[in-house]
Amino acid sequence: MTESALFALPKVELHCHLELAFRKTTLKNWALQRGMAVDAEHAFENEFLIKSPMADLPSVLHKFLNARDVIDNEAKVEQLAFEACEDMHRISNVRVLELRYAPSFLLDAHPDMNADLMLEAILRGITRAERKYPMVVGLIGLLQRIKSVQENERWCDWILERKAHFVGLDLADDEVHYPAHPFASLFQKAKAQGLGITVHAGEPDVPQAAQNILVALDKLGADRIGHGVQAIQDEEVMARLVQDRIPLELCPWSNVLTRAVSSLTNHPFKELLKRGIRTTLNTDDPGVMDISLVDQCRHVMTHLDISIENLMQCNEWAREASFISQERIQSVWPNNKS
Ligand SMILES: [Zn+2]
Repeated sequence: MTESALFALPKVELHCHLELAFRKTTLKNWALQRGMAVDAEHAFENEFLIKSPMADLPSVLHKFLNARDVIDNEAKVEQLAFEACEDMHRISNVRVLELRYAPSFLLDAHPDMNADLMLEAILRGITRAERKYPMVVGLIGLLQRIKSVQENERWCDWILERKAHFVGLDLADDEVHYPAHPFASLFQKAKAQGLGITVHAGEPDVPQAAQNILVALDKLGADRIGHGVQAIQDEEVMARLVQDRIPLELCPWSNVLTRAVSSLTNHPFKELLKRGIRTTLNTDDPGVMDISLVDQCRHVMTHLDISIENLMQCNEWAREASFISQERIQSVWPNNKS
């Protein structure tokens, strides 16, 4: 498999957090403008990038929060969105891209920013990329389970009032200490109003993680599962995923960095695929984790003996599972052009 053939494969990215999908050179410039001493590459890496499996959660959070601190106005948000799309297309030939973001995440650090102006900035960035490249981009609104139901209800309603600009709703953050079921009514409401539902579930290597997938499906009405890598631990969960054709948004390198799996070689991507589960391949946080989708493809080919045919199948499943309309997807998908 040559590099050019791997690049040429048209790709779908379903699981990418916009706030952590920054272009490194841009983020470094913003950090320097704020007076951070990150000129040396190792200094920048120390403050902003996760390059090896994390030792502890605080050290990773430190990097997330650093990135959040420097994305401090709407102009930067527009540039962030445009470059996230541009890099996906130019580096990995992504044609269909879903970006997720939590309005509350940036606003918590920058109370002078405005949620509507931030959304408009993201949309300007995305639209600029869609005009420049053969790609379609959809936005997923993200609720943070570490926040109260009341606060999330506000954001859920805010998203639903602007649902013309969103294709889906997601629930993220620590699933070990913050169960998903209290948010069920919010997700059922969003589903009833036509948004696609994806939920981070079954990610960390803890005993209840696989069962969290069932909560996401049965209580929150998930159409897709964010990560879901721990499904491998539970026959009942795997049978359910096969039966209901539920796609998993797998992010192998992210799983290694967060120690959800011990190594790429031990990642269950191929086993889940062999079981007939609709596995899709995604980056999670391409900026902070310093990985592109084409890198991720190379990783699973090298370490798990995944073939190009497997990757084509995964992209096919991802394309079918996208919350972006099939009409829009077909306008940029090469096979359907002629
Ligand atoms: Zn994620």
